[in-house]
Amino acid sequence: MTNTQRADWLDEARITSALAMTGDTDAAKVREILAKARELKGLSERDVATLCTVRDPDLVAEMFDAARYAKNEIYGPRIVMFAPLYFSNICTNECVYCAFRRSNKELDRKALSLDEIESETAALIDQGHKRMLLIGGEAFPKSGFQYLLDAIERIYSVKRGRGEIRRVNVNVAPLSTDQFRDLKAAQIGTYQLFQETYHRKTYAEMHLDGPKADFDWRATAIDRAMEAGIDDVGLGPLFGLADWRFEMLALMQHIGHLEDKFGVGCHTISVPRMEPAVGSDVSINPPHMVSDDDFKKIVAILRLAVPYTGIIMSTRETAEMRRATFELGVSQISGGSRTNPGGYATPAEEQAAQFTRGDHRSLDEVVRDVAECGHVPSFCTACYRMGRTGADFMDLAKPGLIREMCGPNALSSFMEYMMDYGSDDTISAGEKAITAEIAAMEAKPRRWSETMMRKVREGKRDVFR
Ligand code: SAM
Ligand code: SF4
Repeated sequence: MTNTQRADWLDEARITSALAMTGDTDAAKVREILAKARELKGLSERDVATLCTVRDPDLVAEMFDAARYAKNEIYGPRIVMFAPLYFSNICTNECVYCAFRRSNKELDRKALSLDEIESETAALIDQGHKRMLLIGGEAFPKSGFQYLLDAIERIYSVKRGRGEIRRVNVNVAPLSTDQFRDLKAAQIGTYQLFQETYHRKTYAEMHLDGPKADFDWRATAIDRAMEAGIDDVGLGPLFGLADWRFEMLALMQHIGHLEDKFGVGCHTISVPRMEPAVGSDVSINPPHMVSDDDFKKIVAILRLAVPYTGIIMSTRETAEMRRATFELGVSQISGGSRTNPGGYATPAEEQAAQFTRGDHRSLDEVVRDVAECGHVPSFCTACYRMGRTGADFMDLAKPGLIREMCGPNALSSFMEYMMDYGSDDTISAGEKAITAEIAAMEAKPRRWSETMMRKVREGKRDVFR
């Protein structure tokens, strides 16, 4: 890990001065920015700095209205479903907020064998999942990096009746460019990496030892992934470590850098907020805890700033918070999740979890709730399998065509879920949500949707365009 490049796109001084200059929020200026945001072309770092200072309840309400508009125009009511699979809680790092950190003695350690990964995959497929996020501590079991490749191969090989995992996304510690090339060849969907905090001083205080202590190795990892051909990448600060406004502007700089260098920004942004973790005082009293009100602003501002980028919310958050943020911009959620290795096949062992979950419901309950809120749970994996990734996906997303393509795909994949896994209550909530969505669609996507859903009802699976 010598020769680490410096993340010189990150300009702390510019962030600090932008935040200092936006002391009193000028309502006219905010409204001008919101009008620009409604054009769905994104916002500048400066605009984001201004929106981050909005406190006046009327202006916040206007900002939320604009975010709802953007969410609906681009995504419609779709919410994509996924689940994490934790392959290991063994870790060489000392992230003071995480239960998996090396020195934490209060945790039972476990790395799954490939057979155990297969059992976990089977349990997720039996819930109805099609998308998985493979995740774990920074320390691969015996075979090293090859373990990760073998795990992905094994996951894709598991078939359960008509169920299977069709997209494996990965969230693992930074890799070398060659390793990223191998990961790409293993047919992953998105490579996700959270910078945790873009504030260098805070980063040093939070990451005491291990490879992760090297800020720049992490901050340049997405460059290496993209150089290796992985064009769907996911970013995310861990909210609670530094001032959230700082993180938002730094995130904008990171995205701006990727756009300049690779012609495309990130595919997704995750919004993890600190949760209590076993044996971690920092996780219970984080230095910059984000309030619920500010957390909603974060989602809304991101939706306006990068309208075509997916926003992911995990089960860290409660059902109420997840519901409140669907409309403001969240486009992907996990459901029925466990954050301990082996947690699906043997649910009793939750002591080994990474953090406390806010949402403990089963996938079926989450899906029903999403449908009852008037959204359409989607299990679609079409884009990545059709090669619509990176800039190609963004071309599709930017003019709002995503609704034409993804709308019908969401409905057919939801129909597949309901027929194969849905409880009676979920099916009845789902049918209502589908009827409402079909009625709201324009003629062409409505015809496609109806044809695709008919095929699913007749027994065909994996129907997409
Ligand atoms: N170990 C790898 C790494 O750190 O990059 C893989 C990801 S780690 C298992 C997943 C993410 O969990 C971290 O990037 C961090 O943002 C988040 N995390 C860690 N401790 C947390 C906590 N107490 N509350 C919420 N999220 C936490
Ligand atoms: Fe390890 Fe990741 Fe947890 Fe840090 S956040 S201790 S690297 S699992």
